[in-house]
Order: sequence, then C-alpha cells, then structure tokens
Amino acid sequence: NLQATTTLYNGVKMPWFGLGVFKVEEGPELVHAVKFAIKQGYHSIDTAAIYGNEEGVGQAIREAINEYGITRDELFITSKVWNSDLDYEATIAAYEASLKKLGLDYLDLYLIHWPVENKFIEAWRVLETLYKEGRVRAIGVSNFQVHHLEKLMQVAVVKPMVNQVEYHPRLTQQEVKAFCDRNGIQFEAWSPLMQGQLFDNPLLKELANKYNKTVAQVILRWDLQNGVVTIPKSTKEHRIIENASIFDFELSKEDMNKISGLNENHRVGPDPDNFD
Ligand code: NAD
Repeated sequence: NLQATTTLYNGVKMPWFGLGVFKVEEGPELVHAVKFAIKQGYHSIDTAAIYGNEEGVGQAIREAINEYGITRDELFITSKVWNSDLDYEATIAAYEASLKKLGLDYLDLYLIHWPVENKFIEAWRVLETLYKEGRVRAIGVSNFQVHHLEKLMQVAVVKPMVNQVEYHPRLTQQEVKAFCDRNGIQFEAWSPLMQGQLFDNPLLKELANKYNKTVAQVILRWDLQNGVVTIPKSTKEHRIIENASIFDFELSKEDMNKISGLNENHRVGPDPDNFD
C-alpha cells in the first residue's frame, strides 16, 4: 500500500512512495497539493532549500496534522542542503533555516543536494553530527556517482542511508544502483517520470494498455519492483491520485526487463560530474 516502507540500514522506515515539489512555488497551489496528497495517504514529502517552498510545505503539514488527524511521526519529510552552503558553519545554519521554514523540530532525511568537489566531505561531517545528536533521523546524499560515494565512504563515520539520483527508463544508472544495493544505501529516483518526456513512448503505452494502467503508473510500478524509492511531482488532484494507484498490480519479469531495456543513459537534469 501507499504507506509501505523500506527499512534504512539504521532501522528508520522510509516510505517507498512520496510527493516531490520541485518547481512548485510558494502559494495556495503548493499548500493544496501537499495537503491533498497527505489526505490521499501520501506520508512522504521531498523538498529542498533551493526549491524555495519549505514554508508552504510546512504550512501544509501543519494544516494536515490539524485537519486530518495524521501525526508528525507518521510523516517522512526530506530536505536538502544547497551547494552554496557546504561549509561547516553554513551547513549547520542551512539545516536550522530549513527546520524553521518548515516549522519542524527535526527532519526524517537530510541530503547533500549535489556532490560539490572539495566541499561535500566537510558538509558530511555536519550531517553526521546532526545525526549523532539525534536532530535528524537519517542522512544521505543526492546526485552522487560511484566515485563520489567511494570518496565519501573512505572518511565517513556514518555512511549515507540514501542516494537520490535521476532515474527513469531512459536512465537506469546501473553502476551507481549496483553500488548502492551492495552497500546498503537506499536508492531513490528523482524525475521518475522524466519530467513528462516518457508519455509518448510506444512500449510504455503498450504496457499501460496491457495492464489497464497509465504510462505514469507503469513507470512508478517499475521503480517499486526495482527496489527504488520514488517521488513523482504533481500539483493536480487527479494525478496525485493516479500516481499513487500502483499498489494493486504487478509487472511481469519480462515486462520489467523490456522497460529497463529503454535505457540510453539519457539525462533531463544536470550531469553530476559537470553541474556548475
Ligand atoms: P517528475 O519526473 O516527477 O515529472 C513531473 C512532471 O510530470 C510534472 O510536469 C507533472 O505535471 C507531470 N506529471 C506528473 N504526474 C503525471 C501523470 N500522472 N500524468 C501526466 N503527467 C504527469 O519530475 P520532477 O519534479 O523533476 O521529479 C520529482 C521530484 O524529484 C521533484 O519534485 C523533486 O522533489 C525531486 N528532484 C530532486 C532533484 C535532485 O537533484 N535531488 C532533482 C530534480 C527533482
């Protein structure tokens, strides 16, 4: 079901499915979307300092807690420290600023947004400290390639619990996914729907037809069956419902492989080795 969780290596339970809010500006549409998603049973929300919408996300969380009887500890809230805040003091300040904007006293998951060379190790020290002090339930990274993870893990006292990267049928990230799977790092997909660029794909359309589902549902189901946490973005009620309706069917192994065969290492977002 929608609240199904994966257990991170430190025992914290993280929902397999959540709502992403990239490019959704502060305002009533944002607050409504997050509240509506929670009302529909979404427990996980993915934001970031750079999205500039933590206040609205926080407002939606508070209103949902008041109106729908959901409790804070049932929710799983993720944010990320931006590239300009990766010095020791700045990272602490960024965490505190995110908490303040969200109106929360802890996050469930805090991520280093991008692997800025010569910076991410120092920022990781801060995340480790926050974690050891019990101020955040889990810590991780985003957009880390294998070589970034190797570098981090050579010095890390606490290894990352999650790596959130661009992942969809045209970018299956085999190397980094295999590395994460081997090392107990939960793999999480961003832009799982390739920001809308997969809806015309003939194979995905054929499979949607076969399973009596939509292309979005087929892709998101493929994520789950691959052991990948997924956080599709939508602000529209009918799509928020549609995207979550993926727990009542199963793709065959053969169809799973066909979808994975669409890979062509094609990105919609920046390349983590060259993102400035
Ligand atoms: P996405 O792949 O989730 O696609 C979103 C787009 O698809 C939107 O335009 C939406 O209107 C459309 N859409 C959603 N559901 C649909 C449906 N059922 N039918 C038709 N169209 C539909 O793209 P995204 O927002 O880039 O990624 C999801 C989340 O991942 C983000 O909101 C954000 O939280 C996270 N993210 C993280 C990073 C990172 O660097 N860590 C980068 C990008 C995104």
